[in-house]
Amino acid sequence: MSDWFDSGYEGIPKADEEYEKRGGGELRRFWLKPGASAEIVFETDEPLCFWEHHLKLGGSWQNWFTCRRDSEDGCHICENGDNPAYVGVFVIRDMTGWESKKGKGRQGVGRRMLFVVKRKTLKMIQTLKERREDGLVGLRFAVSRSDENSANCGDLFDFLRNEDMSALPDAGDMPNLMEMFKPLTNVEMASEVGGGSSSGGKGGGGGGSTEDDIPF
Ligand SMILES: [Zn+2]
Repeated sequence: MSDWFDSGYEGIPKADEEYEKRGGGELRRFWLKPGASAEIVFETDEPLCFWEHHLKLGGSWQNWFTCRRDSEDGCHICENGDNPAYVGVFVIRDMTGWESKKGKGRQGVGRRMLFVVKRKTLKMIQTLKERREDGLVGLRFAVSRSDENSANCGDLFDFLRNEDMSALPDAGDMPNLMEMFKPLTNVEMASEVGGGSSSGGKGGGGGGSTEDDIPF
């Protein structure tokens, strides 16, 4: 099994484990509807920061790509005219969850989420952190979003109390953010978002540059 593939299904349980450990694919981004509030607890207070593209693809805005602007071969998505935003990622627990529509009460309280904020909110969190000697980890905040023009992670943070982290539901190992947000190659980007590139051709599966696409 030193190869990069599994024949058949034997590998699935191991992959499940791996995903669980990573906190992987299931880690969602926290966001608030305009006018809404929620309570969160910080699990990290040193953000992983980078430039990020947020694109509407096939009618959906659920598409984020880490920008490659500082890499030697540049960034396919920048070249296609999109401006990336500078973001910082924290890991949090959502202490509010949501009300079940099937009458099961509150769901998802304590679930781990990604807290991805833009520059303005990043600066605000930096200020919050600088005011506290011990940082933000374990602190519970009420966060509110004033309206549709304010940051979708909230623009008002109100400190509530120190949380007993050991009392939170077990969420496994902390996610590896570096791995999670590692940029795609330009070829991978082109095949995900389409658009022209210097190697020509619109859309399609990355045009004629498939040799570069083999990661093994
Ligand atoms: Zn870019």
